[in-house]
Amino acid sequence: MLPFKLVYSDDYFLPIGSHVFPAEKYKRIHDRLLANGIAAASDFVCPRPATDEDVLLVHTPRYVEKLKTGTLSAREELQMEVPYSPELVRAFWLAAGGSILAADYALNDGVAISVGGGFHHAFPDHGEGFCMIHDVAVAIRRMQADEKISTAMTVDCDVHQGNGTAVIFAGAPGAAGPPGPANQARVHKQTSNVFTISLHQENNYPAFKPPSSLDLNLPDGIGDADYLACLGNALSLGLSKVKPELICYVAGADPYREDQLGGLSLTIEGLKERDALMFRIAKGEGIPVMVTLAGGYAHKLEDTITIHCNTIVAAKEIFGVR
Ligand SMILES: [Zn+2]
Repeated sequence: MLPFKLVYSDDYFLPIGSHVFPAEKYKRIHDRLLANGIAAASDFVCPRPATDEDVLLVHTPRYVEKLKTGTLSAREELQMEVPYSPELVRAFWLAAGGSILAADYALNDGVAISVGGGFHHAFPDHGEGFCMIHDVAVAIRRMQADEKISTAMTVDCDVHQGNGTAVIFAGAPGAAGPPGPANQARVHKQTSNVFTISLHQENNYPAFKPPSSLDLNLPDGIGDADYLACLGNALSLGLSKVKPELICYVAGADPYREDQLGGLSLTIEGLKERDALMFRIAKGEGIPVMVTLAGGYAHKLEDTITIHCNTIVAAKEIFGVR
């Protein structure tokens, strides 16, 4: 039995048809974790969908209304890059409920992982890049509204910059200048009680990168050692600025060197070491960490499954087995 919970539902599946986003990955991860004895059935807890009230802590009433009534414009649907359906709305509300539950468990147990979520390209008033609503932001705002935490930190290791996260927690959309030189860390003025860190490939989506509290614009093709050094430095710098009550770790699998939508060169082993580094530091600092999976588009789906399963393995190794 794991000393932490895995939040999962078969209904995490995104009904988006044939798509570069492998929507079946969630069930495949769940099944692999059980088949390989990494987790037991009792380690999983099933989330309920977020309520509209939860979602409205982050998203505008007008946008939520459009989603609930199927009245997005063609342009808005195109920008989301996943085909709208009421079923898809239900799946995203469930992902947000899963992140809320994972945040709750993390605050109790020190760590919790939602085998889903990480939709970091969703903005208050629109969706982008396969993301309809921002499950992680909804979870943070729910925890704050319930006075379980006041401060949080997001650590986004997806290969794509967390543009939605940056805007939601900066409260100043469109305030950014152009991205800085490659591989240069820039700390922006902290205007929110949520400190946002994003490590991402500079030459990749999104073209316009609104400033996070700390952005690491990584050059094309960097490998394990350089990446891990950047992550270590980013965490040291971030944690020297704030001591959050919760870390939300967005564990994207797409910095992998065989990713179709990424241009970094991390190995499967390097990605596991990345997860371990995050967990070691959070544990050492005594800060609870909730995890979501975000992107992963490896040429071989099996590799994406392995990378995500390794996040659970790394947590198990760092946080121990009960
Ligand atoms: Zn991504």
